[in-house]
Amino acid sequence: MMKKLLFTPGPLSTSKTVKQAMMEDMGSRDQVFIDAVKEIREGLLALAGVSKENGYESVLMQGSGTFAIESVVGTVLCNEDNLLVLVNGAYGERIVKIASVLGISHKVLRFEEDEIVSPEATDSFIKSNPDITQVACIHSETTTGLFNPLTEIGAVCKKYNKTFIVDAMSSFGGVEMDMQGMNIDYLVSSSNKCIEGVPGFAFVLCKRNLLEGCRGRARSLSLDLYAQWQGLESNGQFRFTPPTLSIMAFRQAMLELEEEGGVRAREERYKANKKILDEGMRSLGFRQYLKPTIQGHIITSFLYPDDPHFNFDRFYKKLNDRGFIIYPGKLSKANAFRIGNIGQIFPDDVEALVEAVKEVLEEEHVSMSVA
Ligand SMILES: *Cc1c(COP(=O)(O)O)cnc(C)c1O
Repeated sequence: MMKKLLFTPGPLSTSKTVKQAMMEDMGSRDQVFIDAVKEIREGLLALAGVSKENGYESVLMQGSGTFAIESVVGTVLCNEDNLLVLVNGAYGERIVKIASVLGISHKVLRFEEDEIVSPEATDSFIKSNPDITQVACIHSETTTGLFNPLTEIGAVCKKYNKTFIVDAMSSFGGVEMDMQGMNIDYLVSSSNKCIEGVPGFAFVLCKRNLLEGCRGRARSLSLDLYAQWQGLESNGQFRFTPPTLSIMAFRQAMLELEEEGGVRAREERYKANKKILDEGMRSLGFRQYLKPTIQGHIITSFLYPDDPHFNFDRFYKKLNDRGFIIYPGKLSKANAFRIGNIGQIFPDDVEALVEAVKEVLEEEHVSMSVA
């Protein structure tokens, strides 16, 4: 089978050694496994610049990233609470949907998809809606690739003493983040994004004193964040079958992140990928959807070329046949596709992708208006 490179926001390309870490069967009560869980939980806190000693906890949750978001929303809010969801893309909308499905009181402050969440608008919304108790926001909105201003939004939450919940799914591990400095109370990410593990679980980093107040609140048995934490604390084990092999792969992925030079070095590699992608695609005549000032270095949305010869499905398939997997768009206002820079992808791979894009455009006779 041909080796394929994933230029997607997850699951993404992983190293051979990460995959090899999954080759041995592993019992869920094996001390090696229990130690791996402990190491991962502590390591994740360190990546966020916090620790158990200064009052933070780390909870692993089976399933994809959405499961962990749902466990937070479903466990943290009590019946009298009211969640404010800050939305500027599909992942913000997903949190709204979770709150609706669970019957949790919420309000929504929406922004355009190509604009960041405004801390000023958030401030005035909270001021005029004193019933708000928690605020949820996406960091890297994978819909477009923009970064929301977490530090400023965190400061607004602190000013009004609101719990701040952050979906840092596609950025954690690939963007330096100081959880305490940003006033983040709950941070969620998953195994198959910037830490470059395989799918299987997600994790929640949070303030212990807040989590301690969540006993018995969950609307779900399996997605009870508090009970999951208690289970892990009492005997180091998951309450229900853990994703053993995915955990072993993740421990290896965390070691490799450290070997690379930590989050800062990984961020530099992703930025180097992004620079080559930007320059290469621009030279082919592609335009980006977002203004560069709000664009993050995780994933980029490119507008379809104007030429009617361009057909995304054929473009996608021909790139796929050459071993390059890109990602369709999810925009409501424009036709675009997305290319991610995260995972085991290096500048040479991005150059090869740009070359393949060039070949496919020629084969398809798509004419680009190069500026
Ligand atoms: C990937 C992602 C998620 C989680 O998606 P799953 O498919 O459940 O893993 C949530 N939020 C953002 C911003 C993401 O990029």
